[in-house]
Amino acid sequence: MKHLTVKITTLAAFTMLATLGAQNVQAHDHDQGKFAIAIHGGAGTITRANLNDEQEAAYKAKLDEAISAGYAILADGGSSSDAVIAAVQIMEKSPLFNAAKGAVYTWEGEHELDASFMRGDTLEAGAVAGVKRIASPIALAREVQEKSVHVMLSGVGAEQFAEQQGFEFVDNKMFDTDHRYQQLQDAKAKIMESEQPEQQAWQQLDTKYKYGTVGAVARDKQGNLAAATSTGGMTAKRYGRIGDSPIIGAGTWADNESCAVSATGHGEYFIRYHVAADICSRMKYQQVDVKTAGDAVIHGVLKDAGGTGGVIIVDHKGNVHMPFNTEGMYRASRVEGGETEVAIYQD
Ligand code: ASP
Repeated sequence: MKHLTVKITTLAAFTMLATLGAQNVQAHDHDQGKFAIAIHGGAGTITRANLNDEQEAAYKAKLDEAISAGYAILADGGSSSDAVIAAVQIMEKSPLFNAAKGAVYTWEGEHELDASFMRGDTLEAGAVAGVKRIASPIALAREVQEKSVHVMLSGVGAEQFAEQQGFEFVDNKMFDTDHRYQQLQDAKAKIMESEQPEQQAWQQLDTKYKYGTVGAVARDKQGNLAAATSTGGMTAKRYGRIGDSPIIGAGTWADNESCAVSATGHGEYFIRYHVAADICSRMKYQQVDVKTAGDAVIHGVLKDAGGTGGVIIVDHKGNVHMPFNTEGMYRASRVEGGETEVAIYQD
């Protein structure tokens, strides 16, 4: 009898443990989070009045194409690094955005391109600034992360590295578009008319002269985060001006323990307030959620300082948040099991 009781008790305990175990697995699975991707195509004075139906449809279609490409990689078990690079490259090739083809012009009438990439598992990063002849600056940024001992390469040196790595070179004119050229003429006229033409363009021009930077953040099935950003910077930029986009911590950040961020907006402010890293640090050290951290920086710190722009964020569980303090931000997201969401304006 005693023997039987022990047996029953053991069985009950075993069943209980097994049930608890199953619950734990469920809870654990839930805790594991979801794979997810978010992208942006720049923030700024983007209102319904500024875009006709055809332009709106074109932007939405390209955002949809980019997010779908990244999502397919994640759904297939691919890495967040591959997903963000694929999404950004689709936007780099499109004349709609201020990155590679469609990049804004410098004061001298050229294109100087900046890009950066970071992975959240190792905190390894790569960036290029002021490159002029590389078809895909984001691919070069990743190459810097993977194949060089440095984090950031610039100008001629970055192109020497690209040549050594067998990268394809293109003529700077390949990035030309008529609408960006017109923006340069408008910007120069505005600056020259002003009382202080020596001021940097960014002090004089409103946000319509710079929006269109592209970026992507993702969390893959393994729980690894990655972020990528690529831009032509600001119209009429001079003196080798570099914005936040290639600066790790300012325009791009990824850390598996908190979140991945890609930024767009008035770069000088994003550099000074190290926006991307600040959002993730808040999550990590204040233990706040992605919405609280993102809103505090974009609608609090940045706005109070006079900085305009926005970010896309995916956290370590696959939650996505895309705050911006401008009229609009081209953006899209898709979380495992959900539908693609594409949006441009505030509402
Ligand atoms: N952040 C970019 C820069 O300042 C521009 C942009 O995102 O619109 O170069």
